[in-house]
Amino acid sequence: MSHICFTCGTQYPTSSDPPPGCPICRDERQYIGRRGQEWISLESLQKRYRNVFFQEGEGVWGIQTEPEFAIGQRALLLQTRNGGILWDCISLIDASTIGLVKALGGLSAIAVSHPHYYASMVEWSRAFGGIPIYLHEADREWVQYQDSAIVFWKGETHRLNDDLTLVRVGGHFSGFQVLHWASGEKGSGALMTGDMPQVCPDRRYVSFMYSYPNLIPVDGATVRDIVRKLEPYKYSRLYGAWPKFVVSGDAKTALKRSAERYLRAIGGLSDRKTQTSR
Ligand SMILES: [Zn+2]
Ligand SMILES: [Zn+2]
Repeated sequence: MSHICFTCGTQYPTSSDPPPGCPICRDERQYIGRRGQEWISLESLQKRYRNVFFQEGEGVWGIQTEPEFAIGQRALLLQTRNGGILWDCISLIDASTIGLVKALGGLSAIAVSHPHYYASMVEWSRAFGGIPIYLHEADREWVQYQDSAIVFWKGETHRLNDDLTLVRVGGHFSGFQVLHWASGEKGSGALMTGDMPQVCPDRRYVSFMYSYPNLIPVDGATVRDIVRKLEPYKYSRLYGAWPKFVVSGDAKTALKRSAERYLRAIGGLSDRKTQTSR
């Protein structure tokens, strides 16, 4: 059977015995659950949980598992002019989910921001005919379920087509990627970020952490680097990892004011002041 980690939702290749452990949960950016390492099969997940669909924006559908499972993120189905894209992933896939996705135009590719949301990406790819899964090369070591559908790209940006670009921002994971959709949000642009940066509950600010559950921040240089890497892109709307965690207007300004606030909080702005006053 196929084992899925109960805490992070990662699917492992078919085996009779469960894997010896989950490297993604053993890593300091995640954690092993209070009851120790637990596994669930895709079949049990299908029996005990279901997926719900909701509209998150213009041509953007959220897909989330109920009751909440593992990290609890939602995947996004983007209805782009070049076909449907699944941004980030969830562990549960079943016949009704496949039917609904097909009714919404189907999928032509999958892209996942980072290992916490790899979930059942190979299962999702196969359900739609073995469609490509775009991941950054720098996170290859975290892939637990290797498959020929996975396309590892190198460098700082990767254009999927004239409308969609993957940008490696790093920070949370070395190969962390975000997706820029130029014609999204009626042409004003949309940015899918998942965890990096992550949308704050007030939906006016975003933040930048190395580990969210273990509260480990990133340094100032990393935050400045992320702002610099996203500078060439135009977007008014920014999508985080949870339902309604969306900065719904002027998101690029929100990124800048968030970076400034973060740098102030960790002392990254006062450093320069101290130096010049000497
Ligand atoms: Zn895990
Ligand atoms: Zn994460």
